[in-house]
Parts: sequence; structure tokens; C-alpha cells
Amino acid sequence: MIPEAAPLADAAPLAEDFHTHTAFSDGRDSLDAMVRAAAGAGLRTLYVTDHVRRDTRWLPEYTRAVREAARRAAPLRVVCGVEVKILDTAGRLDLPPDLTGVRHVAVADHRFPLPGGPAAPGEVRDLLAAGELGPEQALDALTEATVAAVHSVPASCTRHLAHLFSVLPKAGLSEDAVGPERLARIAAACRETGTAVEANEKWRCPGPAALAALRRHGVHLVAGSDAHTAEAVGAWSYAASVLAGGDGAAPGDPTGRPAP
Ligand SMILES: [Zn+2]
Ligand SMILES: [Zn+2]
Repeated sequence: MIPEAAPLADAAPLAEDFHTHTAFSDGRDSLDAMVRAAAGAGLRTLYVTDHVRRDTRWLPEYTRAVREAARRAAPLRVVCGVEVKILDTAGRLDLPPDLTGVRHVAVADHRFPLPGGPAAPGEVRDLLAAGELGPEQALDALTEATVAAVHSVPASCTRHLAHLFSVLPKAGLSEDAVGPERLARIAAACRETGTAVEANEKWRCPGPAALAALRRHGVHLVAGSDAHTAEAVGAWSYAASVLAGGDGAAPGDPTGRPAP
């Protein structure tokens, strides 16, 4: 039997969906429907990564349900994960204190992590407009927070960075401004901690250039649909393109990201 906390497999990346949501958090469909969809899509591994916060009370029911679903799903491997936001530049995570049964943590930039805590992207946009926060300072804060956060995941869990940089455009910043040095720092932290980085299908991020740079730095890249419905499980367009070294555009799709 494959242990649920097996290290991140080096499988063909599109055979594993690292990021999905069920009705336990804000997904539309049940856990069973998501598992059926993953099997139907021919996936080898489904990571169920419902949103948790420090005060989440349903973790015991959730981990039990995923464990039971995993037993019935073979040969599909089902991993019990959670998605959690980075809180601040110290890399604190909004995790419940007891993670019994959780095997994987998807680390996410839902808010902008600043030294004093998480800020709404709109708040950061206002601080930038008012000159109270410089763009370089903001990018340094996000980098520092991300580097520290991958070290904050409990050792009992595997981990990956979910939709890295998705908070930047929401705060009025461009991912292009991150630059090679910050990417190298994030990559080093990922290598040190065995943290993968996801090509996120829903938000189409990080961009092809950042993913290529992370890969050159030896970071393991994975695919995450961020599915909130059964139809979206393992349905790849952006991830298929960028993980194959492409520019993110579907064949014949002029709305894809421009080539780096
Ligand atoms: Zn997320
Ligand atoms: Zn998500």
C-alpha cells in the first residue's frame, strides 16, 4: 500500500492534480463526485486540498472522509491535503493546531503577507498608490513570506506552493517585476524543503517565464486545477502548455499569455 504521505512523486505531472476543493470548503461538488471525476479523467493521484483556517472545526470529519474515499478509490491515489494562507513575512500559516490525518499542505497567497499580518490586495494597492509602501518593498515582503512559509509546514506533511504570485495582479503589481534574484531565493527554499510549485490552471499562474526559471533552479513543478467542480478536475490547458515548456496558450487560442 502506498503511504498517503509518500514523497512528491515524480510521475508525469498531468497525471496528478495537486489542488482541488470539495463541498467541505467552497467546492460545489461532494468528495465522492471529485474522486469519481479524477478516476474518469485518468488521473493517478488526486490531492484534495480544502481551505482551512486556524479555527476550522471540521478537520476530523474531513480527514476521515478522505481516508475512507481513498480506500475505495484504488488504483487512484487520494491524498488528504489542505490549502492554507500565508499570514505574514515570518511565514506563519493560518493552520489549525491539530493536523492529524493531513498529509499535504498547499501554501497560498490569498492575502498579501506584510510584516504586521495579511493585507487585502486592495489595501496593498492603496498603500502603493499613497507611496506608503514601495513596489520593491512589497515584492520583498511576498518573497520573504513565501520563503519562510515553506519552512513553516509541519515536517509530517508534503507541501507545494499554490498559485504562486496570484496576489500580485490583484494588488496592482506585475509578476515580471519579481526578477531573477527573488525567484532564486524562492527556488532555494523550495529545494531545501522539498516544496513543489504548481502551475495553476484556474488563475493561469505563475507565468511561463517564472515557471521556467524555477525549473532551471531545480524546483519540481506540478499541476493544480484548483477545481471547485467535478468537471474541472484534471482538465488541463494552461498547465499542460507551460509544463511542456510552452507559453500557456491552448492550440489556436489567441488569449493565452504572451511568450516570455
Ligand atoms: Zn487558493
Ligand atoms: Zn484553491
